[in-house]
Amino acid sequence: MIRLFVPDPLHAGARFPLAEDQAHYLTNVMRRAVGEAVLAFNGRDGEWRASVAEAARRRCVLAVEEQTRPQSARPDLDLVVALVKRARLETIVEKATELGARRIRLAITRHTNADHTNLARLQAIAVEAAEQTGRLDVPEVVGPEKLERLLDGWDGGRALVFCDEAGEARPLLEAVRAAGPAAVLIGPEGGFSPEERARLRSLPFVTPVSLGPRILRADTAAITALALWQAGAGDWARHDIAP
Ligand code: SAM
Repeated sequence: MIRLFVPDPLHAGARFPLAEDQAHYLTNVMRRAVGEAVLAFNGRDGEWRASVAEAARRRCVLAVEEQTRPQSARPDLDLVVALVKRARLETIVEKATELGARRIRLAITRHTNADHTNLARLQAIAVEAAEQTGRLDVPEVVGPEKLERLLDGWDGGRALVFCDEAGEARPLLEAVRAAGPAAVLIGPEGGFSPEERARLRSLPFVTPVSLGPRILRADTAAITALALWQAGAGDWARHDIAP
């Protein structure tokens, strides 16, 4: 069944118009008619079955009926990733969403080859991936922010799992066991600078980890690190994933 992320409050009897692009998608592209059902979620109220109450060319109103899944927390896991080329960054946002990242923080490091990106497009990719993957929320894509500043303002209660391609480090699965608030850090195509590595390794909340003997591309590294974290400390130990 089609799932839609909406900003509106969700409760039995609620009725609201969809945004124009969602209305177009539902009525013109997917040709859903009045009375047909969709699933709606907003990141706060769980997932609800709703039916199409009005369907015109550019307008579609949903009528909310019953809750299908209560809002449930997911692991408190951020991804901090250096800006890489657009296509790879879009893949990283989509896969980080599927892998349960709570938030995606974009970083500018010594070797990043860009200092800006299209945040709106990346956020739209996160919404689409959350709808597809059955999540009850959508990760926020924030930044880009210089790595130094990000570290200066770091919440020490959140463990930073530093994927260090160049250093002696324990395998991620061995190094990460605690299930508390965490973030995975992935560098750019050019890797981290020696100064960045030295600073990261000096910080008390940082755990350097290895992703094996081969150098992975940023998108491969992000997917691998998030998957290993979920397997070792996240919600892959449970099996209550979306049907
Ligand atoms: N130069 C290559 C490229 O163009 O893609 C590789 C740079 S690598 C993608 C960038 C980041 O991926 C690294 O900074 C690190 O965070 C992560 N990474 C890649 N291989 C890794 C490994 N074997 N162990 C730990 N982290 C790794």
